Amino acid sequence: MQKHCRIFLTTCLLTPLLACQSPPKPENIVAAQLQQSALTSNLAYELVESLTVEVGPRLAGSNKDLVAVHWAENKLNQLGFDKVYKEAVQVPVWSRGSAKAELISPYPQPIVITALGGSIATPTQGITAPIVRFDSLATLELAPADSIKGKIVFIDDVTKRYITGKGYSETVGGRSKGAVAASKKGAVAIVIRSIGTDHDRMAHTGMMRYQDGITKIPAAAMSNPDADQINLMLKRDPNVVLTLTMSPQSQGDSTSYNVIAEVTGSSKPEEIVLIGAHLDSWDEGTGAIDDGAGVAIVTAAAKLIQQLPNKPARTIRVVLYAAEEVGIIGAKAYAKAHKHELAKHYIAAESDFGAGSIYQIDYRVNEANLGALHQLSAVMTNNGLILGSNTASGGPDVSILPAQGVPVASLKQDGRDYFDYHHTPNDTLDKIDPAALQQNVAAYVQFAYLMAQSDVELRPIATTQ
Ligand code: ZN
Ligand code: ZN
Repeated sequence: MQKHCRIFLTTCLLTPLLACQSPPKPENIVAAQLQQSALTSNLAYELVESLTVEVGPRLAGSNKDLVAVHWAENKLNQLGFDKVYKEAVQVPVWSRGSAKAELISPYPQPIVITALGGSIATPTQGITAPIVRFDSLATLELAPADSIKGKIVFIDDVTKRYITGKGYSETVGGRSKGAVAASKKGAVAIVIRSIGTDHDRMAHTGMMRYQDGITKIPAAAMSNPDADQINLMLKRDPNVVLTLTMSPQSQGDSTSYNVIAEVTGSSKPEEIVLIGAHLDSWDEGTGAIDDGAGVAIVTAAAKLIQQLPNKPARTIRVVLYAAEEVGIIGAKAYAKAHKHELAKHYIAAESDFGAGSIYQIDYRVNEANLGALHQLSAVMTNNGLILGSNTASGGPDVSILPAQGVPVASLKQDGRDYFDYHHTPNDTLDKIDPAALQQNVAAYVQFAYLMAQSDVELRPIATTQ
């Protein structure tokens, strides 16, 4: 007790008088304690290690996806949450098969590619055709069809490195919409420069889409060094010919699950603070940064609240979404299944951007009350966060909730290296810094606790940005 008084006195002498007139608010004392607990807990790292080692890759709809669901249920039960349950989601099944590409002329040699998620196969003998290069999806869309007909489209858009990861949003359209744009003009296949910031000879996968009424063509990504190599060839000879051989397959639908855990609120149990992540991953790495880290961060944060002697007012709900990678399918199923209680969702946030330190929290709440919310969140600045804007999206699975009126927050992570590893065989546990992971847990536990205790009215929100 004496020691506590001395610390309080010293703090008072060092800070302006006004700050000392009232003792710290009870929720700030708990939030500070939660931060300390998070920064000394190894639980999140143990969880992501367990998921990546004992389950590994877990493509939506695959057998491993169900192993991951089982893993999640077991872990959440072992951790002693008040409620653990799962909700069925129908997901498309797609298997990667093999993907090979070989330059035939002018300088024959193999290149490294990977199939984009959802792509069809080539004929067994492959597709051989000249390459036609575009520096972006936009230039492909503007190009005359006669320059494309019968060729393999190569979109050569370089993904730039930013702390926010915005380079990805600038180029990902080429991956998702490139096949349709190319096929409309008669292309026989599309191979894009990987949507990634690394220079490793590894290609980045990710979802692509077809459109009804437009011929489906095979779609792949090549590694960044291979895209550079093709550019150097095109400088020497505009007639670069590629053979592409791929055997992915769509295999109908299967059942996966959103796995959910709750810490029941003490006085407003029907009101929900949702913290989410996605349980599925691509099949090439072990899904450590995308999104094993997120699963571990939100689970460990909720566990720290479960351990509190006095639970916060609202319920903390951890949602481990199914099938994010293949089209936020678990998120859509959640929004449908919980339509009746979305009005009771106080706020939602998702961790799906690796394990880099969180430097800022953005909200999307009633603009008039952002100041009050910032006052409540001020304690989070002690964990290195800046209080940011009112334009949050909340993360991919959560991003569909604002249209239903649900306030969201984005706890923004340093994503400078995220797109080096994203959707590649290099997405493995060693890319996670244990200290940064703890800082993430500290931010999420403070966020969840403060939101579950908050008296600030967050609605109505702006439903358009
Ligand atoms: Zn993800
Ligand atoms: Zn992903």
